[in-house]
Amino acid sequence: MSILVIAEHDNESIRPATLNAVTAALACGGDVHVLVAGANCAEATQRAAKIKGVSKVLVADAPQLAEGLAETVCAQIIAIAESYSHILVAATAHGKNVAPRIAALLDVAQISDITKVVSADTFERPIYAGNAIATVRSADAVKVITVRTTAFDAALAEGSTAPVESIPAVEAFPRSTFVSREVTKLDRPELTAAKIIVSGGRGLGSGENFAKVLEPLADKLGAALGASRAAVDAGYVPNDYQVGQTGKIVAPQLYIAVGISGAIQHLAGMKDSKVIVAINKDAEAPIFSVADYGLAADLFVAVPEILASV
Ligand code: FAD
Repeated sequence: MSILVIAEHDNESIRPATLNAVTAALACGGDVHVLVAGANCAEATQRAAKIKGVSKVLVADAPQLAEGLAETVCAQIIAIAESYSHILVAATAHGKNVAPRIAALLDVAQISDITKVVSADTFERPIYAGNAIATVRSADAVKVITVRTTAFDAALAEGSTAPVESIPAVEAFPRSTFVSREVTKLDRPELTAAKIIVSGGRGLGSGENFAKVLEPLADKLGAALGASRAAVDAGYVPNDYQVGQTGKIVAPQLYIAVGISGAIQHLAGMKDSKVIVAINKDAEAPIFSVADYGLAADLFVAVPEILASV
């Protein structure tokens, strides 16, 4: 049984989410191969070959794969899919773009957002915003799976020297072309990879307050900034800050929720954080039910005091 993991990469480095997908793939049992589809992607390929537990890296290196367009990447995967019992991608924006196309073209049911591999054909996945866990058994010949990265430890980035095999690149998908990409440049860690997240909610009251109160704390802690949907909808911060059911799923070592009530849709995105600190002036706020440390206080007093003491 061979299992294929689709690498998420920028042609040079491998995105950390791929390492979590490799761990899930190893739990399925079998040889784990990684596909690197890109252009001038020798460096990413070499890094993929070092990931602990990977037994082979397939590389398709061609200009039409440079931008990782889902349509062409998907065609590349379909070209080799029949050799595999499982195809796994991280449940990131990239993975969620690719996986449904693969499943549809293979005429199988996608198994989304798995949090546990019970056996090679049985998986757990959260439903109802994480309030229930479904156990799903698939009889499909090829299991197309997206992996909730926070549920699996990252495989070690070093530890293997897997052989690399070049495979022929597919033609560009004719009906979509890459136009441009706008990448937000962050001085802080990326939200889903950050060890510490300082997250703000509607309690901040404005974008100005968000910047004035939370940014210094995040800077001091070397943390990423996150937000509730209410804070995003109110325009305090851009929507790529959003944590939750319809935002990003995070599980940092430390999550500091400031002025966030703790609606289930927010908890769905952060409740697996190792240590949760909540600051809210309402002692009855639901966020305190998941918090390891809670401070019932006015954030405009508490946060500057914390800042002064770290
Ligand atoms: P509020 O619920 O308004 O809470 C603000 C909190 O700030 C209150 O608890 C208040 O006591 C506290 N506060 C106010 N002033 C202060 C002060 N001075 N000091 C200290 N505390 C103060 N939400 C998400 O976050 N992420 C999602 O992905 C998401 N997806 C959703 C998907 C669906 C389908 C739906 C229906 C909703 C979704 N929501 C999501 C919205 C969610 O239901 C809540 O509305 C939202 O999380 C509330 O954000 P909030 O806690 O910032 O605001």
